[in-house]
Amino acid sequence: MNQTVDPLHGLRVAVTVDDQFQWTGIPFPEGHGPKSVSRAMIEAFANHNVPEVYAFNSTAPTDESPGDLSILDDWCAAGHHVGNHTHQHVSLNWLDVETYLGDVDKSEEILRPWLEKAPSRYFRYAFAMDGDTLDKTRQVQTHLTRTGYLSSPVTLWFYDAQFAVAYQRALALSDREAQKWLEDELVRTAVDQTRRQAAAAASAIGRSPAHILLIHGTTVAGATLDRILAELANLGVEYITSEEAMRDPANAIGSPLTTRKFRNASQKWAEFAGVALDDVPPAILDDVEEVAKIDGQSWNEVLGGATAEWAKRIPFTPVPADFH
Ligand SMILES: [Zn+2]
Repeated sequence: MNQTVDPLHGLRVAVTVDDQFQWTGIPFPEGHGPKSVSRAMIEAFANHNVPEVYAFNSTAPTDESPGDLSILDDWCAAGHHVGNHTHQHVSLNWLDVETYLGDVDKSEEILRPWLEKAPSRYFRYAFAMDGDTLDKTRQVQTHLTRTGYLSSPVTLWFYDAQFAVAYQRALALSDREAQKWLEDELVRTAVDQTRRQAAAAASAIGRSPAHILLIHGTTVAGATLDRILAELANLGVEYITSEEAMRDPANAIGSPLTTRKFRNASQKWAEFAGVALDDVPPAILDDVEEVAKIDGQSWNEVLGGATAEWAKRIPFTPVPADFH
Protein backbone atom coordinates (compact mmCIF):
# COMPACT_ATOMS: atom_id res chain seq x y z
CA MET A 1 0.00 0.00 0.00
CA ASN A 2 1.19 3.48 -0.77
CA GLN A 3 2.09 5.14 2.52
CA THR A 4 2.30 8.69 1.12
CA VAL A 5 2.20 11.30 3.86
CA ASP A 6 -0.72 13.73 3.68
CA PRO A 7 0.68 17.21 2.78
CA LEU A 8 -1.55 18.56 5.58
CA HIS A 9 0.31 16.57 8.22
CA GLY A 10 2.61 18.95 10.10
CA LEU A 11 1.68 21.85 7.80
CA ARG A 12 2.25 25.17 9.60
CA VAL A 13 -0.52 27.63 8.82
CA ALA A 14 -1.13 31.24 9.90
CA VAL A 15 -4.81 32.12 9.47
CA THR A 16 -5.88 35.57 8.23
CA VAL A 17 -9.32 37.08 7.58
CA ASP A 18 -10.07 39.56 4.78
CA ASP A 19 -12.89 42.02 4.24
CA GLN A 20 -14.90 41.84 7.45
CA PHE A 21 -17.04 44.71 6.09
CA GLN A 22 -17.45 42.86 2.77
CA TRP A 23 -17.18 45.28 -0.17
CA THR A 24 -19.08 48.35 -1.35
CA GLY A 25 -21.65 47.01 -3.80
CA ILE A 26 -21.83 43.62 -2.02
CA PRO A 27 -23.55 44.30 1.30
CA PHE A 28 -24.28 41.62 3.88
CA PRO A 29 -27.54 39.68 3.59
CA GLU A 30 -30.48 40.89 5.68
CA GLY A 31 -30.09 39.98 9.34
CA HIS A 32 -26.35 39.36 9.08
CA GLY A 33 -23.39 41.69 9.41
CA PRO A 34 -19.78 42.21 10.45
CA LYS A 35 -20.61 41.90 14.16
CA SER A 36 -22.22 38.44 14.08
CA VAL A 37 -19.60 37.01 11.70
CA SER A 38 -16.70 38.46 13.67
CA ARG A 39 -18.11 37.01 16.92
CA ALA A 40 -18.46 33.55 15.38
CA MET A 41 -14.89 33.72 14.09
CA ILE A 42 -13.41 34.86 17.41
CA GLU A 43 -15.14 31.88 19.03
CA ALA A 44 -13.88 29.44 16.36
CA PHE A 45 -10.30 30.70 16.74
CA ALA A 46 -10.52 30.26 20.52
CA ASN A 47 -11.90 26.71 20.12
CA HIS A 48 -8.94 25.65 17.99
CA ASN A 49 -6.14 27.71 19.56
CA VAL A 50 -5.57 29.78 16.42
CA PRO A 51 -3.33 32.63 17.58
CA GLU A 52 -3.28 36.32 16.69
CA VAL A 53 -5.28 36.46 13.48
CA TYR A 54 -4.73 39.54 11.31
CA ALA A 55 -7.83 41.04 9.68
CA PHE A 56 -7.28 42.84 6.38
CA ASN A 57 -10.33 44.95 5.64
CA SER A 58 -10.96 47.38 2.86
CA THR A 59 -12.53 50.30 4.69
CA ALA A 60 -14.79 51.88 2.04
CA PRO A 61 -17.93 50.07 3.33
CA THR A 62 -17.49 51.86 6.69
CA ASP A 63 -17.90 55.28 5.00
CA GLU A 64 -21.64 54.67 5.27
CA SER A 65 -21.60 52.76 8.56
CA PRO A 66 -18.65 53.97 10.64
CA GLY A 67 -20.16 52.21 13.67
CA ASP A 68 -19.08 48.88 12.13
CA LEU A 69 -15.47 49.80 12.93
CA SER A 70 -16.21 48.98 16.58
CA ILE A 71 -15.96 45.27 15.76
CA LEU A 72 -12.22 45.87 15.55
CA ASP A 73 -12.17 46.74 19.28
CA ASP A 74 -13.65 43.31 20.10
CA TRP A 75 -11.31 41.68 17.58
CA CYS A 76 -8.20 43.20 19.17
CA ALA A 77 -9.51 42.57 22.71
CA ALA A 78 -9.69 38.86 21.78
CA GLY A 79 -5.95 38.92 20.94
CA HIS A 80 -6.26 39.41 17.17
CA HIS A 81 -4.82 42.18 15.00
CA VAL A 82 -5.58 44.50 12.10
CA GLY A 83 -3.65 45.20 8.89
CA ASN A 84 -4.12 47.48 5.87
CA HIS A 85 -5.94 46.25 2.73
CA THR A 86 -6.57 49.56 0.84
CA HIS A 87 -9.73 51.64 1.20
CA GLN A 88 -11.63 50.78 -1.98
CA HIS A 89 -10.25 47.29 -2.79
CA VAL A 90 -9.27 48.12 -6.36
CA SER A 91 -6.67 45.87 -8.02
CA LEU A 92 -3.25 47.45 -8.57
CA ASN A 93 -3.61 46.20 -12.17
CA TRP A 94 -6.29 48.84 -12.78
CA LEU A 95 -4.67 51.88 -11.16
CA ASP A 96 -1.50 53.89 -11.48
CA VAL A 97 0.88 53.60 -8.53
CA GLU A 98 0.13 57.06 -7.13
CA THR A 99 -3.63 56.48 -7.01
CA TYR A 100 -3.14 53.05 -5.46
CA LEU A 101 -0.87 54.40 -2.73
CA GLY A 102 -3.34 57.22 -2.03
CA ASP A 103 -5.94 54.53 -1.38
CA VAL A 104 -3.53 52.67 0.95
CA ASP A 105 -2.92 55.89 2.91
CA LYS A 106 -6.65 56.64 3.09
CA SER A 107 -7.29 53.30 4.81
CA GLU A 108 -4.35 53.90 7.14
CA GLU A 109 -6.02 57.11 8.37
CA ILE A 110 -9.20 55.21 9.25
CA LEU A 111 -7.51 52.17 10.78
CA ARG A 112 -4.66 53.93 12.62
CA PRO A 113 -5.97 53.30 16.17
CA TRP A 114 -6.04 49.55 15.52
CA LEU A 115 -2.98 49.34 13.26
CA GLU A 116 -0.92 50.90 16.03
CA LYS A 117 -1.87 48.11 18.43
CA ALA A 118 -0.62 45.32 16.15
CA PRO A 119 2.84 43.83 16.76
CA SER A 120 3.56 44.05 13.00
CA ARG A 121 2.46 46.42 10.26
CA TYR A 122 1.14 44.20 7.51
CA PHE A 123 -0.35 45.19 4.18
CA ARG A 124 -2.32 42.88 1.91
CA TYR A 125 -2.87 43.70 -1.76
CA ALA A 126 -6.52 43.80 -2.89
CA PHE A 127 -7.27 40.50 -4.69
CA ALA A 128 -3.67 39.54 -3.78
CA MET A 129 -2.73 41.29 -7.04
CA ASP A 130 0.69 42.76 -6.34
CA GLY A 131 1.42 44.39 -9.68
CA ASP A 132 0.98 43.48 -13.33
CA THR A 133 4.48 44.80 -14.04
CA LEU A 134 7.63 44.35 -11.97
CA ASP A 135 8.13 48.12 -12.02
CA LYS A 136 4.74 48.76 -10.36
CA THR A 137 5.42 46.08 -7.76
CA ARG A 138 8.76 47.67 -6.92
CA GLN A 139 7.29 51.17 -6.64
CA VAL A 140 4.52 50.02 -4.30
CA GLN A 141 6.90 47.84 -2.29
CA THR A 142 9.24 50.83 -1.90
CA HIS A 143 6.41 52.93 -0.46
CA LEU A 144 5.31 50.09 1.83
CA THR A 145 8.85 49.60 3.10
CA ARG A 146 9.32 53.33 3.73
CA THR A 147 6.06 53.47 5.68
CA GLY A 148 6.95 50.42 7.77
CA TYR A 149 4.71 47.86 6.06
CA LEU A 150 5.50 44.28 5.16
CA SER A 151 3.38 42.63 2.48
CA SER A 152 1.40 39.67 3.87
CA PRO A 153 0.97 37.24 0.97
CA VAL A 154 -1.88 34.75 0.71
CA THR A 155 -0.45 31.29 0.08
CA LEU A 156 -3.66 29.27 0.58
CA TRP A 157 -7.23 30.13 -0.37
CA PHE A 158 -10.32 28.20 -1.29
CA TYR A 159 -12.61 30.55 -3.22
CA ASP A 160 -14.93 31.14 -0.28
CA ALA A 161 -16.04 34.54 -1.65
CA GLN A 162 -17.72 32.72 -4.53
CA PHE A 163 -19.52 30.44 -2.04
CA ALA A 164 -20.50 33.58 -0.08
CA VAL A 165 -22.37 35.10 -3.02
CA ALA A 166 -24.27 31.83 -3.59
CA TYR A 167 -25.02 31.66 0.15
CA GLN A 168 -26.47 35.16 0.04
CA ARG A 169 -28.80 34.00 -2.74
CA ALA A 170 -29.78 30.95 -0.67
CA LEU A 171 -30.51 33.17 2.35
CA ALA A 172 -32.56 35.57 0.21
CA LEU A 173 -34.62 32.63 -1.06
CA SER A 174 -34.82 31.02 2.42
CA ASP A 175 -33.51 27.87 0.71
CA ARG A 176 -32.30 25.92 3.74
CA GLU A 177 -31.26 22.91 1.67
CA ALA A 178 -29.01 25.05 -0.54
CA GLN A 179 -27.50 26.71 2.53
CA LYS A 180 -26.61 23.33 4.02
CA TRP A 181 -25.14 22.07 0.74
CA LEU A 182 -23.00 25.21 0.40
CA GLU A 183 -21.78 24.94 4.01
CA ASP A 184 -20.82 21.26 3.58
CA GLU A 185 -19.17 21.81 0.22
CA LEU A 186 -17.23 24.82 1.49
CA VAL A 187 -15.77 22.74 4.35
CA ARG A 188 -14.84 19.96 1.94
CA THR A 189 -13.40 22.40 -0.61
CA ALA A 190 -11.36 24.23 2.05
CA VAL A 191 -9.62 21.01 3.08
CA ASP A 192 -9.13 19.77 -0.48
CA GLN A 193 -7.79 23.09 -1.81
CA THR A 194 -5.45 23.51 1.18
CA ARG A 195 -4.05 20.05 0.54
CA ARG A 196 -3.55 20.60 -3.21
CA GLN A 197 -2.01 24.06 -2.87
CA ALA A 198 0.30 23.01 0.00
CA ALA A 199 1.51 20.04 -2.07
CA ALA A 200 2.17 22.26 -5.10
CA ALA A 201 4.07 24.83 -3.04
CA ALA A 202 6.23 22.10 -1.48
CA SER A 203 7.05 20.63 -4.84
CA ALA A 204 7.78 24.04 -6.42
CA ILE A 205 9.99 25.28 -3.56
CA GLY A 206 11.59 21.94 -2.66
CA ARG A 207 10.35 21.98 0.95
CA SER A 208 7.05 22.65 2.71
CA PRO A 209 7.03 26.37 3.63
CA ALA A 210 5.00 27.99 6.40
CA HIS A 211 1.66 29.08 4.95
CA ILE A 212 -0.72 32.02 5.23
CA LEU A 213 -4.34 31.04 4.73
CA LEU A 214 -7.14 33.42 3.83
CA ILE A 215 -10.82 33.25 4.69
CA HIS A 216 -13.20 36.18 4.11
CA GLY A 217 -15.42 37.70 6.78
CA THR A 218 -18.63 36.57 5.09
CA THR A 219 -21.76 34.94 6.46
CA VAL A 220 -20.98 31.49 5.06
CA ALA A 221 -17.42 31.68 6.40
CA GLY A 222 -18.75 32.60 9.84
CA ALA A 223 -21.08 29.60 9.69
CA THR A 224 -18.35 27.12 8.71
CA LEU A 225 -15.02 28.35 10.08
CA ASP A 226 -15.23 26.24 13.24
CA ARG A 227 -15.69 23.07 11.16
CA ILE A 228 -12.91 24.02 8.72
CA LEU A 229 -10.43 24.67 11.52
CA ALA A 230 -11.40 21.41 13.26
CA GLU A 231 -10.96 19.32 10.10
CA LEU A 232 -7.60 20.87 9.24
CA ALA A 233 -6.36 20.36 12.82
CA ASN A 234 -7.55 16.71 12.75
CA LEU A 235 -5.48 16.19 9.62
CA GLY A 236 -2.36 17.51 11.31
CA VAL A 237 -2.33 21.25 10.54
CA GLU A 238 -0.58 23.33 13.19
CA TYR A 239 -1.78 26.93 13.65
CA ILE A 240 0.95 29.57 13.95
CA THR A 241 1.09 33.37 14.06
CA SER A 242 1.58 35.52 10.96
CA GLU A 243 4.90 36.63 12.44
CA GLU A 244 6.08 33.01 12.51
CA ALA A 245 4.92 32.48 8.93
CA MET A 246 6.69 35.65 7.79
CA ARG A 247 9.99 34.37 9.15
CA ASP A 248 9.90 31.90 6.26
CA PRO A 249 11.78 33.56 3.37
CA ALA A 250 9.28 32.09 0.89
CA ASN A 251 6.71 34.50 2.38
CA ALA A 252 8.96 37.44 3.19
CA ILE A 253 10.52 37.54 -0.30
CA GLY A 254 7.42 36.41 -2.20
CA SER A 255 7.02 34.43 -5.37
CA PRO A 256 9.18 35.21 -8.41
CA LEU A 257 6.25 35.35 -10.86
CA THR A 258 4.79 38.66 -12.08
CA THR A 259 1.24 38.23 -13.35
CA ARG A 260 -1.95 40.24 -13.62
CA LYS A 261 -4.01 37.10 -12.97
CA PHE A 262 -5.89 36.28 -9.76
CA ARG A 263 -3.36 33.87 -8.22
CA ASN A 264 -2.18 33.24 -4.68
CA ALA A 265 1.52 32.83 -3.89
CA SER A 266 1.42 29.00 -4.04
CA GLN A 267 -0.15 29.15 -7.49
CA LYS A 268 2.53 31.63 -8.58
CA TRP A 269 5.33 29.46 -7.21
CA ALA A 270 3.83 26.43 -8.97
CA GLU A 271 3.44 28.24 -12.28
CA PHE A 272 6.98 29.61 -12.07
CA ALA A 273 8.42 26.14 -11.37
CA GLY A 274 6.22 24.35 -13.93
CA VAL A 275 4.35 22.35 -11.27
CA ALA A 276 0.83 21.30 -12.33
CA LEU A 277 -2.04 22.29 -10.04
CA ASP A 278 -5.14 20.25 -10.84
CA ASP A 279 -8.61 21.49 -9.87
CA VAL A 280 -7.43 24.93 -8.66
CA PRO A 281 -9.78 26.76 -8.91
CA PRO A 282 -12.06 23.77 -8.23
CA ALA A 283 -14.70 22.50 -10.68
CA ILE A 284 -17.25 22.60 -7.81
CA LEU A 285 -17.51 26.37 -8.39
CA ASP A 286 -19.61 25.61 -11.48
CA ASP A 287 -22.10 23.74 -9.26
CA VAL A 288 -22.01 26.57 -6.71
CA GLU A 289 -23.24 28.89 -9.48
CA GLU A 290 -26.20 26.58 -10.14
CA VAL A 291 -27.42 26.72 -6.54
CA ALA A 292 -30.21 29.08 -5.43
CA LYS A 293 -30.16 30.94 -8.73
CA ILE A 294 -31.45 34.51 -8.87
CA ASP A 295 -31.38 36.57 -12.07
CA GLY A 296 -28.47 39.01 -12.11
CA GLN A 297 -26.83 37.52 -9.02
CA SER A 298 -24.27 35.10 -10.40
CA TRP A 299 -20.74 35.49 -9.03
CA ASN A 300 -19.57 37.28 -12.18
CA GLU A 301 -22.55 39.63 -12.18
CA VAL A 302 -22.23 40.50 -8.49
CA LEU A 303 -18.46 41.05 -8.72
CA GLY A 304 -18.88 43.01 -11.96
CA GLY A 305 -21.56 45.20 -10.35
CA ALA A 306 -19.34 45.88 -7.34
CA THR A 307 -16.28 46.85 -9.39
CA ALA A 308 -18.48 49.18 -11.49
CA GLU A 309 -19.62 50.78 -8.22
CA TRP A 310 -15.99 51.25 -7.09
CA ALA A 311 -15.14 52.87 -10.44
CA LYS A 312 -17.60 55.65 -9.59
CA ARG A 313 -15.45 56.48 -6.56
CA ILE A 314 -11.97 56.01 -8.07
CA PRO A 315 -11.92 56.25 -11.87
CA PHE A 316 -10.57 53.05 -13.44
CA THR A 317 -11.55 50.45 -16.00
CA PRO A 318 -12.10 46.99 -14.48
CA VAL A 319 -10.66 44.05 -16.43
CA PRO A 320 -12.86 41.04 -15.59
CA ALA A 321 -10.48 38.72 -17.51
CA ASP A 322 -7.93 39.24 -14.73
CA PHE A 323 -10.04 36.96 -12.52
CA HIS A 324 -9.64 33.96 -14.82
ZN1 LIG B 1 -9.86 41.52 -0.04
